[in-house]
Amino acid sequence: MQDALSLLQNTFGYPAFRGMQADIIAHVADGGNALVLMPTGGGKSLCYQIPALLRPGLALVVSPLIALMQDQVAALREAGVAAACLNSATTQDEARAIAHFAREGQLDLLYVAPERLLSPRFLEFLASLPQIALFAVDEAHCVSQWGHDFRPEYQQLGQLFQRWPQVPRIALTATADAETRADMLHYLQLQDARQFITSFDRPNLFYQVVEKDSAKKQLLAFIENDYPGVSGIVYCLSRKRVDDTAQWLCENGIRALPYHAGMSHEDRDRNQRTFLREDGIVMVATIAFGMGIDKPDVRFVAHIDLPKSPENFYQESGRAGRDGLPATSWLCYGLNDMVQLTQMIEGGDSPAQQKQVELTKLDAMLGYCETPSCRRQQILAYFGEAAQPCGQCDNCLRPPATYDATVVVQKLLSCIYRCGQRYPAGHIIDVLLGRPNQYVQQAGHDKLSTFGIGKELNQKGWRSVIRQLVARKLLQVDIVRGQSLLLTDTCRAILKGEQQIELRPLAEARQRQSVHSERWLRTEREERLWSALRRWRKATADEHNVPAYAVCSDRTLQELVQQRPVTPSGLKKVYGLGELKVARYGEALLGLIHEHGEG
Ligand code: ADP
Ligand code: ZN
Repeated sequence: MQDALSLLQNTFGYPAFRGMQADIIAHVADGGNALVLMPTGGGKSLCYQIPALLRPGLALVVSPLIALMQDQVAALREAGVAAACLNSATTQDEARAIAHFAREGQLDLLYVAPERLLSPRFLEFLASLPQIALFAVDEAHCVSQWGHDFRPEYQQLGQLFQRWPQVPRIALTATADAETRADMLHYLQLQDARQFITSFDRPNLFYQVVEKDSAKKQLLAFIENDYPGVSGIVYCLSRKRVDDTAQWLCENGIRALPYHAGMSHEDRDRNQRTFLREDGIVMVATIAFGMGIDKPDVRFVAHIDLPKSPENFYQESGRAGRDGLPATSWLCYGLNDMVQLTQMIEGGDSPAQQKQVELTKLDAMLGYCETPSCRRQQILAYFGEAAQPCGQCDNCLRPPATYDATVVVQKLLSCIYRCGQRYPAGHIIDVLLGRPNQYVQQAGHDKLSTFGIGKELNQKGWRSVIRQLVARKLLQVDIVRGQSLLLTDTCRAILKGEQQIELRPLAEARQRQSVHSERWLRTEREERLWSALRRWRKATADEHNVPAYAVCSDRTLQELVQQRPVTPSGLKKVYGLGELKVARYGEALLGLIHEHGEG
């Protein structure tokens, strides 16, 4: 029997296991049950793929999405692993061939959609197999109604496990709060399983938050400055905004595609495939896009609207940088986002208790945006992990200076108070700035003592102050009555001058030194080789009808440029090149290196 490490190196081409992979693989290969919680990009797939190869028989992988399955199978086949998938798109003939190979012991992994699993025909097929190596349940949080991706079929998996109790099972997910975890243990019968819980830190992600001014323009500038020509995802709150933003990016020379639930199935599928297969596409999407997208070379995830919860934010931003190379989570938000989301929650049909939960999560999200300290620390703390300041988020790199804002805040609070706590932010700011517009005059607010007392800040400056006060619960936005600003009890001490308050000034355009992936290229020669390798990868991927990253990851190409191996054994030392890939592509790669290697 081949051991795990040599499979990792020879078949998958990676030098070493990451984090808990080795322990998990040893445990499952040895017949143990496991529950694995690992952040997106942590490397969950290998945790069942390698035991599947180590154990005799066919391994079944339950996976909720067809696209995800197909890509995994394509990548496995590229590495020379006998894998197949069974879903609604599989023809009868294909299914028969799969069954045949499985019975002959010629298939190692079979990916199955959950709705197939419990059909009598499939159970009969399972019973006819000489041996089942293991059951793997991917995206296992789908079993829980608490999770946002609930799939009722997942709950029936227990039947399967009862029938084959001696077959080891492993459930994997990237998101699980306490309720979801309890549901997984219960429905997947994992009470006695060993739990492997990995840190949620994503050290290669750079976190950045900017204050919303004109989101589309800010987004364009971010992409043009930091990440031109690479793959990225932009999340928006509404379908209309998706369409607008995608169009705007295209008009400005960026290859952007839309994705939302209002589009036809075909259009969505086509855009998703293009995104997965080609380099340098920006996918503009609602949260409908993403589950199971495991494209490793997404260099940035931008949110141009505030995500609903830290869970959403973590999961969505986590789709960047799964290959471990530097990547950015960029979030652009304004007070209106907060108001709009609060309205959506309040106006939704969830029971009152659920609404309260959602509002609390939204608050935590606002806290992330407004924190003057380390953003990573803030996110990890939310998931129950203590961490030191990371030194590589926007706040760590440029700690926002704070200033004594007591007087400014007193002016704002008393202005709100004098306006009767019945007006929204825009109106209050007009009064502070002394703008006698129609509404201000109609209300007689140009006669107030606070009219025109706030000229030391401009409109944006005041908005920033208001946001920070909402985040700190000194102000509340009344959603029911026209988004008017309300004072909370905690204001009193400040108004009376008994308490001081420090705020951040309006962040000047805080831009990090650009880190987009091509910056590592040192010479023109390296640049030529890099583009030649990328062209080759695209052509090869098209020819094999698989996504580009199934041929090689960016990291592999980068190492090829940097190391310029000249022999097959040199190639084998490169990240991601296993034996089969060296055999298959070695000649072409060495040829390219030779051709583009001269002066
Ligand atoms: P997820 O946990 O999100 O399912 P994947 O299994 O898709 O993550 O792995 C993310 C990326 O990391 C993939 O490109 C995978 O090939 C790579 N990877 C996984 N394990 C290792 C390893 N030990 N060394 C190097 N790369 C790895
Ligand atoms: Zn930090």
